[in-house]
Amino acid sequence: MLIKKDPDIIKAYLEDSSNLKGGYAKEVVIPSTIEELSAFVKEANREGNPLTISGGGTGTTGSRIPFGGAVISMEKFNRILGISEKEPSCALQTGVLVDDLKRAAEQKGLFYTSHPTERTASVGGTVATNASGSRSFKYGPTRGYVNRLKMVLANGEVFEVVRGQRMLKRDDSRVELAGGGKIIVPLPTYKIPKIKNSAGYFAKDGMDLIDLFIGQEGTLSIIVDMDLGLARAPRGILSSFVFFRKEEDAWAFSDEARRTSKAKRLDDSPGLDALSIEYFDSNALRILAFKDSNVPRDAHAAIFFEQETSPETEDVLTHGWLEIISRHNASLDNTWAAMNEKEQGRFAELRHYIPEWINDSLRKEGAQKFATDIAVPEDSFSEMMNFYKDTLMGSCIEHVIFGHIGECHVHVNLLPKSEDERAKAKEMLKRFIKKGVLLGGTVSAEHGIGKTKHEYLEIMYGASGVMEMARIKKAFDPACILGLDNIFPKALLRLA
Ligand SMILES: Cc1cc2nc3c(=O)[nH]c(=O)nc-3n(C[C@H](O)[C@H](O)[C@H](O)COP(=O)(O)OP(=O)(O)OC[C@H]3O[C@@H](n4cnc5c(N)ncnc54)[C@H](O)[C@@H]3O)c2cc1C
Repeated sequence: MLIKKDPDIIKAYLEDSSNLKGGYAKEVVIPSTIEELSAFVKEANREGNPLTISGGGTGTTGSRIPFGGAVISMEKFNRILGISEKEPSCALQTGVLVDDLKRAAEQKGLFYTSHPTERTASVGGTVATNASGSRSFKYGPTRGYVNRLKMVLANGEVFEVVRGQRMLKRDDSRVELAGGGKIIVPLPTYKIPKIKNSAGYFAKDGMDLIDLFIGQEGTLSIIVDMDLGLARAPRGILSSFVFFRKEEDAWAFSDEARRTSKAKRLDDSPGLDALSIEYFDSNALRILAFKDSNVPRDAHAAIFFEQETSPETEDVLTHGWLEIISRHNASLDNTWAAMNEKEQGRFAELRHYIPEWINDSLRKEGAQKFATDIAVPEDSFSEMMNFYKDTLMGSCIEHVIFGHIGECHVHVNLLPKSEDERAKAKEMLKRFIKKGVLLGGTVSAEHGIGKTKHEYLEIMYGASGVMEMARIKKAFDPACILGLDNIFPKALLRLA
């Protein structure tokens, strides 16, 4: 096990893409085996030393940034243990990078469905945040693919949980540990929305125990290795950028694409079924134009979508999409299509360029991000989009809207330039959050709560809901050492 105390080395672990400042730690610990990790955690638990777990450091909420104690970096747990084509599934260690899993799976004709667009994330990080990717429109978020987790608990004990083996009920929520101990999980009463959601702990009477550890943001355990479901790689993919003169046309296009795809899935008939439906507003297109000068100048919005094809279905599906495109006033001259891997790679890079550009500019300015991660139920989405539009119209704050419109989940990025604008952006973000919650949505659909969104979680679940989460944490981590200040303020643990 490596223990690094050099401030220059520690510095690299004091940031993620939230630009949250002020993190500090006395050391970075890099275990190579589960035995080393377990012994170190046992000692930290005895002494009450805080531990913050670090994956790839691409999170957007400061959740891997320590405020005291030690960082545990899982970078040496980086082996893919096996990939089964028959199942399709894989066993792997937590520190494997999403990109490495993606490439290894591709060699077997498979793919990891819920990878975020940032491929330097660790797979364990995607589980700990219940991350999603653009193709989550078809495949859903990470949660649905996690079949087994091996973890080290806060007391240092190794604990394994397999999906389907332990359901937690209100009157039966006891978890037996191998060492003879037990944990009674105080099952919470708050209701989680039935949409993609990464805001706090999963909770439901009758829930699978494994679901508690997905989206836990390093507060309940340290994930060491796991079994994940994979999907069979599509035989072919049609991907397309469609540019619109009016943003309302892009919204209507995505609405029809969403409804058509979902209807197709219900009756399993052949037909249009998007893998992803992604949105870009006019400001996002301005950023895209830095990377590709062919972005049409008169476009005010764009949709990127992907459709699985095969040699037998390619023509009919392409025709079907062209019909929807024409129905929503997009010119076919302003529609780009990629049918081969090279072109598709270029489109994926373009899609990824926007969050990267925003994060890079903020980093250069040393500024913190004000961005929504709100998703709302389908029937409230147009109300939410109009609310964003009306609120932003009256402000002079620079903003960029892009993201997973297929899942009623776009990221509104506010880029204030002065102290005054920062205060206004903060206030505006809160209005968006309140509106999203009022419409039955979530304050975090994929990034988690971390250290920067405590206030929003409380708007969503109320002080009592957040207190219920603190009680769950305390049941698993009575000495309160893991992932402090993630999901809720650590001060709450004294009251829980
Ligand atoms: C340009 C860009 C694009 C992005 N796009 C997306 C996107 O499309 N969808 C999306 O969901 N996210 C996206 N993200 C956010 C980020 O990639 C995800 O949140 C990712 O899941 C974080 O993984 P990580 O390994 O970097 O985790 P880190 O940032 O290192 O940590 C995140 C959290 O996971 C915990 N953690 C990490 N490893 C473990 C472990 N072994 N055991 C327990 N807890 C652990 C940490 O303690 C922390 O709480 C994007 C980020 C960037 C910079």
